[in-house]
Amino acid sequence: MDKVRYSYLQQQFDKPEQIFEGIRQLLQTGAFTLGPQVEQFEKSFAALIGTKHAIGVGSGTDALKLPLKALGIGHGDEVITAANTFIATAGAINEIGARPVFVDATKYYTMNVDQVEKAITPKTKAIMPVHLTGEPVDMGPLMAIAKKHNLPIVEDACQSILCEIDGQRAGTFGAAAGFSLHPLKNLNVWGDAGVVVTNSDEVANKLRLLRNHGMKNRDEIAVFGYNSRLDTLQAIVGNWLIPQTKDITAQRRKNAAYYDEAFSKMNGMIRLAPRRSNVHQVYHLYMFEVEEAHRNKLHSYLLSKGIEAKVHYPIPLFLQEGLKFLGYKPGDFPETERQAREILTLPVDQHLSREEADYCIHHVQKYFQNGGM
Ligand SMILES: *Cc1c(COP(=O)(O)O)cnc(C)c1O
Repeated sequence: MDKVRYSYLQQQFDKPEQIFEGIRQLLQTGAFTLGPQVEQFEKSFAALIGTKHAIGVGSGTDALKLPLKALGIGHGDEVITAANTFIATAGAINEIGARPVFVDATKYYTMNVDQVEKAITPKTKAIMPVHLTGEPVDMGPLMAIAKKHNLPIVEDACQSILCEIDGQRAGTFGAAAGFSLHPLKNLNVWGDAGVVVTNSDEVANKLRLLRNHGMKNRDEIAVFGYNSRLDTLQAIVGNWLIPQTKDITAQRRKNAAYYDEAFSKMNGMIRLAPRRSNVHQVYHLYMFEVEEAHRNKLHSYLLSKGIEAKVHYPIPLFLQEGLKFLGYKPGDFPETERQAREILTLPVDQHLSREEADYCIHHVQKYFQNGGM
């Protein structure tokens, strides 16, 4: 074997005839914005997650921004979120003029709920937990805090379609939740797209306005909105994929269990986040940890063997140049910083073959057998 690739998209879409047929049918109608394909996608997506509504939007970032906007959050407000996340979470908060306020991570990589209450100020208007890597936030205690302080929750479920905690699905806890359909997410289309879910009729109605210029109909504007419709072509791809989502999840979980088994026998050279019995992890990312002294060397070694290991993410957001104005400094979120120095991600997708997984395991073992080259 000479390569274990990170992106599996060519394999995933190597038989696109059914999708092309859907696009051919669309061409006969010329209805390129919204339309029945988008409605069908929204219906199936809501059924998949188990919410009353799903509203297709232009990206995962917009799927976080629009619900904040719909809840009336804007300039001068603060939204509490995870220090350990992808830039888009904080970006969505910033885009509506609000300020992201970070809290540190747990050893599961998700927001440390115990630290949320001390981050609340009179300006706090919402909480945005991030179900990172496919691992859910501890929603029970977070819901209690949100209720006590009368703060709405908008879940960032962009990495965590079908993940569950205590038998309840990510995306069904808060006032609304955003999902990404980006090509590298577990349910992925051919470009940018996102979807918001909610059980509230009122929030759903506002979201339908906000994504389409605030237009009630062709002639009447209810509010200033955005141009952020789910693209009809992407909805066709999404409709093709939705029935496969549960199998995709099952395969990723199988691959992760296979890695877990091998790595747990490595005398502590490899550390794994505890696997909790009340959690249904969907492994958007398969992460493990090694001693800081080994991380970059192991990463380089794996790359030299053609294994496209990655680091999600090497520089925490609060230490990024573009976020300097928020005033954070090194040491503010020690667990997030520790993880940034020790984590590594291996391919875990549904197209990863057993041979490829074995090849990855073999080289991780070999690195340590040789004393960490
Ligand atoms: C991918 C992602 C987003 C944003 O999704 P886009 O579709 O790329 O805009 C937001 N939050 C997290 C945690 C993500 O991984």
